Amino acid sequence: AVVAVTRERRAGETRVAATPETVKKLIGQGFAVTVESGAGVTAAIPDAEYAAAGATVAKTLKDALAKADVLFKVRGPEAEELAALKPGAYVLATLNPYNERATLEGLAKAKAGAFAMEFVPRITRAQVMDVLSSQANLAGYRAVIEASEAYGKALPMMMTAAGTVAAAKVFIMGVGVAGLQAIATARRLGAVVTATDVRPATKEQVESLGAKFLAVEDEEFKNAQTAGGYAKEMSAEYQAKQAELLSSHIAKQDIVITTALIPGRPAPKLVSAEQVASMKPGSVIVDLAVEQGGNVVGAKLGEVAETANGVKILGRPNLPGRIAADASALYARNLLAFAGLLLDKDGKLAPDFEDEILKAALVTKDGAIVHEQLKTAPA
Ligand code: NAD
Repeated sequence: AVVAVTRERRAGETRVAATPETVKKLIGQGFAVTVESGAGVTAAIPDAEYAAAGATVAKTLKDALAKADVLFKVRGPEAEELAALKPGAYVLATLNPYNERATLEGLAKAKAGAFAMEFVPRITRAQVMDVLSSQANLAGYRAVIEASEAYGKALPMMMTAAGTVAAAKVFIMGVGVAGLQAIATARRLGAVVTATDVRPATKEQVESLGAKFLAVEDEEFKNAQTAGGYAKEMSAEYQAKQAELLSSHIAKQDIVITTALIPGRPAPKLVSAEQVASMKPGSVIVDLAVEQGGNVVGAKLGEVAETANGVKILGRPNLPGRIAADASALYARNLLAFAGLLLDKDGKLAPDFEDEILKAALVTKDGAIVHEQLKTAPA
């Protein structure tokens, strides 16, 4: 079976869905691999490296897709890709399924068997395929780097002959995969780090990284985690109590990084305009949830919003794309592992659709949108 890797076509998408390392391994599993010329350039991988790994480099998109049985992508395929795809081909990508209905419809129309990598269940066997974790981890790291770049002061305390530079105070809101890496990164840079989350399990994780935990720890907080380990949407009362506790804290922070998400829902608003206004001039906020509606009032997708009191709110989309080489390397390994599930024990392309991982991730097949949660279009 042939795997095709095409160039990402979305504005600002710098990642690529395979690397020379995973191309070699795909070939070892029995696949042939075709890479569209230029696909790796923004992730620092020239065509020649793919060729050296055993891939065929195709000059055009059409050539890349002509024989493809499986298409590897970072983002959902564009119309020109779908037009060149064989009916019945499989597609592996992050499809942003709740927000990109047109992509799902295009995949169905092209009769693709499309898997949304975001829907891979978070079971032990699927950890190696977990694109949400691999990318969130790098996004958390990158958020601190972006914040420190926009912040006009140092993060660590420094004692110099000319006097002492104070350590920056960094507050992380939302301690999932991204938040934990943001805490670790800010600590490595010498900042004084605090963090909050609505899931009680995070308290110990925050403390084990040497940061201080801060939250209203009432009855609702004690039950705020689903069986799947995700956050629940909190009541208005809880949010108000939490906001009150956090207000005086936020006013004293130099950098705030927000990462809070609720699966399938808009991001919760965690930082109000008043809280932003309470911060010192020169402070920086990074809103990692900006693509899901944002955690911070005033954050603007793709912009650095500067408030009247001199606070910068960074609304950068696609932070993993700003560390494209590593993000691609991890994403490519996630896809490589997932692709293994499409083969039978003789190495033939014959996905077992009863496999719980494939079942959870399959969104279109045989001309229809098949995923339970996506069958009806959102209102
Ligand atoms: P996420 O991206 O869905 O959300 C980020 C964080 O925001 C979460 O910690 C969430 O609790 C928090 N949050 C939501 N609402 C909030 C609010 N109002 N205030 C403050 N914080 C709020 O989370 P994630 O990174 O996907 O991780 C979710 C869970 O899944 C974690 O427990 C993580 O350890 C777990 N996980 C398990 C596996 C696995 O077992 N394979 C893999 C990855 C993650």
